[in-house]
Amino acid sequence: MRFAELAAAYERLEATASRLEMRHQLAELLRPLRDGDLERALYLSQGLLRPEYEGVELGVADSLARRAVATASGAPEPEVARRTKASGDLGTTAQELLGAVARLPGDEPLSVAAVYAALRGIAAAEGEGSQEAKVRALVGLLARASPQEAKFLLRFVLGTLRVGVREMTILDALNEAFADGSKASRAAIEGAFNLSSDLGLVATRLAGDGVGALATIGLEVGRPIRPMLAEREPTLAKVLERMGGRAALEYKYDGLRVQAHVAHDGTVRLFSRRLEAIGPQFPELLTELPKAIRRAPAIVEGECVPIDPDTDEILPFQDVARRRGRKHDLARVQAEVPVCLFLFDVLLDGGTAVYGRDFPERRRRLEQLLRPTERVRLAAQKVVDGVGPAGAFLDEAIAAGGEGVMAKSLREGSAYRAGARGYWWIKYKRDYTVGLGDSIDGVVVGAFHGRGRRAGRFGAFLLAVYDPKRDRFESFTKVGSGFDDAALAEMPEKLARFASEAPPDGVDTGVVPDRWFRPAVVLEVRGAELTLSPVHRAALGAVREGAGLALRFPRFTGRVRSDKGPTEATTSHELLEMYRKQVRQATPDADGDAERS
Ligand code: ATP
Repeated sequence: MRFAELAAAYERLEATASRLEMRHQLAELLRPLRDGDLERALYLSQGLLRPEYEGVELGVADSLARRAVATASGAPEPEVARRTKASGDLGTTAQELLGAVARLPGDEPLSVAAVYAALRGIAAAEGEGSQEAKVRALVGLLARASPQEAKFLLRFVLGTLRVGVREMTILDALNEAFADGSKASRAAIEGAFNLSSDLGLVATRLAGDGVGALATIGLEVGRPIRPMLAEREPTLAKVLERMGGRAALEYKYDGLRVQAHVAHDGTVRLFSRRLEAIGPQFPELLTELPKAIRRAPAIVEGECVPIDPDTDEILPFQDVARRRGRKHDLARVQAEVPVCLFLFDVLLDGGTAVYGRDFPERRRRLEQLLRPTERVRLAAQKVVDGVGPAGAFLDEAIAAGGEGVMAKSLREGSAYRAGARGYWWIKYKRDYTVGLGDSIDGVVVGAFHGRGRRAGRFGAFLLAVYDPKRDRFESFTKVGSGFDDAALAEMPEKLARFASEAPPDGVDTGVVPDRWFRPAVVLEVRGAELTLSPVHRAALGAVREGAGLALRFPRFTGRVRSDKGPTEATTSHELLEMYRKQVRQATPDADGDAERS
């Protein structure tokens, strides 16, 4: 496949607002492709070189890319910088500048395979002289690229590809291109993706051997499975009712979710909730897990929390957050803030895939599999069959430093449901009992200039929830409080890469901020209550025509959810559920449940 075809397809996709139309176009693009080309086209369209969990990054800074454009086009670097400032996009600048220079005739057109290989080379360049090597490789590509190809190449390299094809749209397109488009085949495709987290693998298997072959994609050590997620209920009585009167309650540890893969040879890989490789941040877990796990290969899941080394008490989550993204001083931080991984599930037990087994069996297996150590322990659990014992266990969990309990269904069908949120797991935090207790994870889509003490920097941010059905980010609040000076000072840097001149694609709001941002950065906020709003668009029309949901008195909790991608933020549907529960709570007689307060 020629790279020009891909670039032309991107140009068309960019001009398309309708998700249905996008899906058709993508299906058309993918249908003739197989194997390597299919895989490459898929990764590239997501702005990736490999599945996200592998964490392959190009490592090309804006300045390097500018230099490459200057060299390839013969324009002086200041001119490249000036034009880019005006257009807001180095890709457009490259397109203009390369369009104006005479090109060498006779060069072979770029293939997707050649572009991909060059980009892999750029990503692999490390150490001394690597910056120059990256620029050289990029110049080499640009020298052979058409102006349109150059535009998309640069956007890819800088991570600003605006094609906007998210996973769910790709799954739909695969269903259209390589299966019968039915709900059943769509479910099989999504199921295979949830287990493997690798769209390239799913697509090549599907295109090569059909929907039936997807069942052969199983668990593999080193390849993360998409996490199972929990629903919420406002009272313990409701939690138990949902679960048929009896459930396993576990401490809900407030830390970082970790999926640990222990290979046969003792190699350990750790993945975050959004499947980033986070092993290097927790060297002590890498050494202790092989000792704690009796039967490798194994895949287990747990929550990683900081522990006070003197008292063995669980510490606030913020302490483990300090470990994330840290490369230096690891030894010191490790000694200061040791962590403990509390395991709550097992998916692969000594090479046997057990994610499809019911929860009671998985828990039994986990208990047998684990040889508890100081750093790797079992999540505290108790099976309860009434509100009384459930409440007592909740008190115990909170006294032990948990933020509530996680209820797990013991019924038939309680398999691990990768990538799905359902009532098989229900989270319950103590503060659900008063007003709007739960926090909301909102995606930053805009910012407002500060005033007074905050003059000269951002003073507030426009947040959105995600609607997976419409694949849109819908605004629900403007948050300014809860940021201390340090948190506020960090925001511009966190957001810079995502700045957008115009309202970004897929963002729906009636509010106009001073600056727009493409959905990427997720902040955790709390608020007093959800109300109806004429300017916010979350769950628009669901409660009243023309009105969206809005959060009143929002406050940033201090937690940037770097373990969540934008599509993993709170959804519009969840917000609507919270709104409905809040309404029910305001009228307690409506559900006759005045349990614990
Ligand atoms: P979600 O993961 O549901 O999207 P979230 O990341 O904002 O939401 P919470 O709503 O606080 O987190 O609760 C869910 C998380 O609780 C799980 O993803 C997991 O990280 C954590 N957790 C803590 N203890 C347990 C446990 N015993 N079993 C399962 N999950 C647990």
